[in-house]
Amino acid sequence: MRDLLALIARPEVISFAGGLPAPELFDVAGLRAAFDHVLAGPSARRALQYAPTEGDPDLRALVAARLTRRGLPTTAAELLVTTGSQQGLALVATALLDPGAVVAVEEPTYLAALQAFQLLGARIVAVPGDDDGLDPAALAEVIERERPSLLYLVPTFANPTGRTLSAPRRALVAELTAAHDLWVIEDDPYGELRYRGDAIAALAAEPAAAGRTLHLGSFSKIGAPGLRLGWLRAPAELMPALVVAKQAADLHTSTIDQAAAARWLATTDLDAHVHALCDAYRVRRDTMLAALPAALPAGSTWSDPDGGMFVWVRLPAGFDTERLLPQALARDVAFVPGAPFFPAEPDRRTLRLSFTTQPPDRIDAGLARLGAAFGQA
Ligand code: PMP
Repeated sequence: MRDLLALIARPEVISFAGGLPAPELFDVAGLRAAFDHVLAGPSARRALQYAPTEGDPDLRALVAARLTRRGLPTTAAELLVTTGSQQGLALVATALLDPGAVVAVEEPTYLAALQAFQLLGARIVAVPGDDDGLDPAALAEVIERERPSLLYLVPTFANPTGRTLSAPRRALVAELTAAHDLWVIEDDPYGELRYRGDAIAALAAEPAAAGRTLHLGSFSKIGAPGLRLGWLRAPAELMPALVVAKQAADLHTSTIDQAAAARWLATTDLDAHVHALCDAYRVRRDTMLAALPAALPAGSTWSDPDGGMFVWVRLPAGFDTERLLPQALARDVAFVPGAPFFPAEPDRRTLRLSFTTQPPDRIDAGLARLGAAFGQA
């Protein structure tokens, strides 16, 4: 993935590869004003000092209030501020996994989560899913057979598939994991980016999931990923171990970035900002979905995501998307082959397209190039 990102750095490449938010939609003025405020006033010296490991109290209170409004009742004490939700994954893995631990994941899933678990010596077992997300019957089988201690899920607008775990399945997954005493990581960086339909309550809000679900959130997709700010909502019994892991990792997340984010949250209409992001991304998703039939070989299938950043494509039998990538790069267009997202046997016909980074005219131009690379011209 890193090699690919280096290759696509050329400005002439239209990239559907990285899961990058649209930079032109960052609230540069609002964030600049927040940083200015923090550095101009009496708060400046505190913002430049070491700070508590758990995170800025104002930021934790603001995030807790937002989660509560979104249907996940949360107190500031339940939150640990992290340096991006990627760090949240690493902290949970450090706190919960011994070498040889078994982690169940939906297949395919977020590559860097697999890396975080594998780094701790965990063994990954894959659970299949479909358009409604992880298959609870398959999960039950995997639990019986493999005895995992942890289930990792991106239940809403998953990376890489864009799929969402349906409400009835959330209840089933919560009951199953509770009955077998599994910890659950609900990784939710995309949940607020919904372009149609009604919000589905977080898995952590399921009564059976209370006390065993670690819910990860992030400013990366609704604010800016360069802030490297996220949060971890954890059961009280795990908090001490997570705080120790956080201390060992980096003492605390940047004081000044947290103070600026708290100021930004307190002074910005974040709902309106997210609304504007959703309006722009909805058009980009629709542009991509409209152009795909002409760009992809006959017999291809693809997801129709209600939100998030990704369309997941499956080409007809005989195609191998890793082999197609050089042809795409030669035409200055990029995608991510699907194979690395599979912890076990990869489906080599799959690929991931991100629709958020490019404006609609570039999406059309890029998919025309992709069509040419796939022999559709
Ligand atoms: N989880 C998932 C599912 C992601 O897709 C990403 C980033 N693309 C992350 C976690 C990490 O996000 P961040 O560290 O920027 O919050």
